[in-house]
Amino acid sequence: MSRTVYVNGAYLPEEEARVSIFDRAFLFADGVYEVTSVIDGKLVDFAGHARRLARSLAELDMPAPCSEDELLAIHRELIRRNGLTEGMIYLQVTRGAADRDFAWSEGMTPTLVLFTQARALIDSPAAERGLKVISLEDLRWGRRDIKTVQLLYPSMAKMQAKARGKDDAWLVEDGFVTEGTSNNAWIVTRDGVLVTRDLSNRILHGITRAAVLRFAREAQMRVEERPFTIDEAKDAAEAFVTAATTFVTPVVEIDDAPVGDGAPGPVARRLRAIYIEESRKAAI
Ligand code: PLP
Repeated sequence: MSRTVYVNGAYLPEEEARVSIFDRAFLFADGVYEVTSVIDGKLVDFAGHARRLARSLAELDMPAPCSEDELLAIHRELIRRNGLTEGMIYLQVTRGAADRDFAWSEGMTPTLVLFTQARALIDSPAAERGLKVISLEDLRWGRRDIKTVQLLYPSMAKMQAKARGKDDAWLVEDGFVTEGTSNNAWIVTRDGVLVTRDLSNRILHGITRAAVLRFAREAQMRVEERPFTIDEAKDAAEAFVTAATTFVTPVVEIDDAPVGDGAPGPVARRLRAIYIEESRKAAI
């Protein structure tokens, strides 16, 4: 069945949605995006995603296409029109269309596109079995804190992982893990400390990461925000990743070596359960 999508003020059947070939996102990857998960027909952490979108736009000197309230109304209308109960909403803002030129002009009209994707998020086979990851050099640009649509290297990394029969890749720079191709990376040390990389331009400031940090601290877990190496991760009791549509998902193997006993661990399971419960309560 055809979805209803949103393009620049109009709700349209997906077959009729059009963006210009001169759009700077098509020509220069000059666009930013957000992915917000939907549970029980409601948005998880919409405020966090709206805040990060505003920051991405500001960092790129790109005007906001509309207010946060208008964005919320569009998200809700898409959920309603598509009867979405579980899945995600993808949003993209681009600088807009203009003759091809590296320099852009002021006062361009941004392009705004949103669409839904239905998917089971809570019942996840990947979360049950755990992910196998490989490590690869992080060859992305230096502003990974901005959520741009420039995702070729993460896609290539994911393909390399698949070619080796694994699920995903953890990216490594200067000897330390930055993050996963599309998630933040975490370990649980043998003495029970949660470790995830501190915020900087080197990683995306995950909305799920922030929520899990908050829930972990509320549950009196010990947490350290600092870089860690692949060797430390291989030697850890547990490892996991966080992202909007995968919540907390255990990592059970890194570069062919089992993490812990090679099965999803109790800390990752507990954090996933807390995250789902709290997100359900707070979804709007
Ligand atoms: N890091 C990268 C590179 C990502 O692409 C994503 C999500 O797409 C994340 C981390 C997780 O961010 P969030 O929890 O906001 O989905």
